[in-house]
Amino acid sequence: MADQKSSATKSDIFSKAFNFTKADEVKEMGLYPYFKPLEATDGTVVEIEGRKVIMAGSNNYLGLTNDQRTIKAAQEALTKYGTGCTGSRYLNGTLDSHLELEEKLADFMGKEGCVLFSTGYQTNEGAIQTIADRKDIIFSDKDNHACIVMGTLAANAKTVRYQHNDMDHLRKLLERADPDAGKIIVTDGVFSMSGTLAKVPELVKLAKEFNARLYLDDAHAVGVIGKGGRGSASVFDLTDEVDLISGTFSKSFASLGGFLVGDRPVIEYIRHKSPAHIFSASMPPANVATVLKALEILQEEPWRLERLEEIANYMRKELRGLGFNVWSSQSPIIPVVIGEMMDCFKFWKDLFEEGVYTNAVVPPAVPQGQSLLRTSYMASHTDEHLDQILEGFRKVGLKHGIIDRNGHSNIS
Ligand code: PMP
Repeated sequence: MADQKSSATKSDIFSKAFNFTKADEVKEMGLYPYFKPLEATDGTVVEIEGRKVIMAGSNNYLGLTNDQRTIKAAQEALTKYGTGCTGSRYLNGTLDSHLELEEKLADFMGKEGCVLFSTGYQTNEGAIQTIADRKDIIFSDKDNHACIVMGTLAANAKTVRYQHNDMDHLRKLLERADPDAGKIIVTDGVFSMSGTLAKVPELVKLAKEFNARLYLDDAHAVGVIGKGGRGSASVFDLTDEVDLISGTFSKSFASLGGFLVGDRPVIEYIRHKSPAHIFSASMPPANVATVLKALEILQEEPWRLERLEEIANYMRKELRGLGFNVWSSQSPIIPVVIGEMMDCFKFWKDLFEEGVYTNAVVPPAVPQGQSLLRTSYMASHTDEHLDQILEGFRKVGLKHGIIDRNGHSNIS
């Protein structure tokens, strides 16, 4: 490898890979926080490098990944249908359980139609690419998830990006746009790094005023917030006013896959036209069965959403009280701003030593100097878990001089 690196010429397409050394440098310093293998997990406590740590960085919001009922449902589906569908939904890969799930999700979300995709990523990438075509314009929030960005790049449409959650900027862009162009506004419902909500009421108004359609990526919202877990539009009682809502099964629904709901003709168009749907194998049986069971549990056990909200409010208040900057989080995603990238990695490592697992998020995912530890919470966290997480942050925060003993932040 070393030989290849030294002999790689600038024109070798692989030269960028041979010259990519950053990860190795951080590994050599013993500070690399990524790709850590979990050796065991019960959902809230995981084993990494032989050490038990509290998981404070999972999207398993309802705590259902290790629930005996979801496990049993998945096992039964394995026995009934086998391990995979070995084909796309279009052809041999549709099970009766896929149809049952689409029907139940459409019903749950209060929309006419639903189409499943094999991941949440493919849902947004595939749907946006398909619905926006030549002569159309996509208005996309600058902080939108990568799969939305990739969907806009794959689409033949023009894309304009508005400043994050900045409704004045969006209005200006809409005013400037060709009134005859087809328009769609696309935004995360809950932003995945900051935990902030989209301004759904303002977005609905702008969409109406400028004859645009509105698309919410509710990956971190369906099964997490809103009326009965129906997502960001339902927080404002505006589900009927939003044209398309997508969600994922890799978070609250304890599985893998994604879905899109909306008016039936639009959903049927996407089902028949989206390359990500047509040319990719369908969700495996066990994944589908897990989601069906999780959807049932979500509706039968409202305490999970209530507990999740209570935990998120508690952690935001306590972390702020310790002096940490948690941005404008409005959900169970609570970022803790550390500052420079290497400082963030050092903080991550010390927190891990204290028995707390978080996710280090560094540029370009966040602005320079705003590297953060993204924490997220689950209905299954106990009060003891939460207090251990807080104690870890307090200790390491003081050690690193990020906070002081009076609950003040030492960073700007
Ligand atoms: N949208 C958002 C906002 C996300 O945060 C994610 C994943 N973190 C996705 C879509 C993709 O979902 P999945 O991981 O289930 O493919």
